Amino acid sequence: MAAERILVISPNWIGDAVMAQPLLQLLRQRYPASPIDVLAPPSAAPVWRQMAEVSDVLETPFRHGALQLKERWRYARMLRRRGYARSYVLPNTIKYALIPWLAGIRHRVGYKGESRYGLVNVMHHDDVPPRPMVPFYAALADEPSAPLRKDVPRPRLSVSEEQMRAACGKAGVPAGVPLVVFAPGAEFGSAKRWPPEHFAALAAQVLAQLPDARIALLGGPKDAPVCEEVQAAAGTAAASIHNLAGRTKLDEAVALIGQAAAVVSNDSGLLHVASALNRPVIAIYGPTDPDHAPPFSDIAAALSLRLECSPCRQRECPLGHHLCMRQLEPQSVWQTLQPMLQPAAR
Ligand code: SF4
Repeated sequence: MAAERILVISPNWIGDAVMAQPLLQLLRQRYPASPIDVLAPPSAAPVWRQMAEVSDVLETPFRHGALQLKERWRYARMLRRRGYARSYVLPNTIKYALIPWLAGIRHRVGYKGESRYGLVNVMHHDDVPPRPMVPFYAALADEPSAPLRKDVPRPRLSVSEEQMRAACGKAGVPAGVPLVVFAPGAEFGSAKRWPPEHFAALAAQVLAQLPDARIALLGGPKDAPVCEEVQAAAGTAAASIHNLAGRTKLDEAVALIGQAAAVVSNDSGLLHVASALNRPVIAIYGPTDPDHAPPFSDIAAALSLRLECSPCRQRECPLGHHLCMRQLEPQSVWQTLQPMLQPAAR
């Protein structure tokens, strides 16, 4: 009998896609011969392409937030022809649960989410106490009645030497020099951003210690203005800073992170990419909970002042002072970063 084909429907955010990767490791163990395809929005698709367990990545043609029932029905007909036997619906919305149901996929696994009775027919319940994202997604690999695993594997991505060389070449980063990546953006809102002048001061510290180093500022097009602020505030260090926000595709950003001696990031998708590539990483938290989606590289630090008002989980600081980030001084981040860079200094 041919192995049954599996379809995983991706969450919309890059960081969530990374944190869903252990689910694929567990599915691969459970169904060793089954091809696993992923249906993902174009913004997250490049991350899935860096996962060894994935056979095909299909990009969703739907607009973000739109129901587009007729388009979903047409798309489901195409999926029906691919003959999937099992699907794992990671977003909690009805509109994503509709697709495998319309495609006639027999086993449709997911959380109850928006009361998706019938659409999801192997239903897990998310009204348990909040869990970090990795075990939350990984639990879908087991039966709903199974006890929660204590041994969930870490997310992992891989990039080839060739991808890293090509990305560095395109970004103008010379071969053989230490590369430090900063991710100063956060699509969620300004409250999650460590101030640009703090990133600039940290860049100056890095370059004082490693004069040959280059610093790459990564992010999407919406992060470009904040990255320009970092570069403008960096003074003489600016010459060694490559502002690549909005100028690299996600797969190139992933390859640059794969090459990095260390990564300093706000609580955003690129943080989780860095962890999954097992790069030394510093994660900076203000309005969000560092225990919810912590970095998980072998060498990782989660920095948070844990003020009384934190985590407020607001997009903009409701108190107007943003002290959770402003009072986290560049010097104290440098004290954590410096030992991570020691291998690059040799
Ligand atoms: S309320 Fe507190 S945790 Fe929230 S953004 Fe403002 S300073 Fe940060």
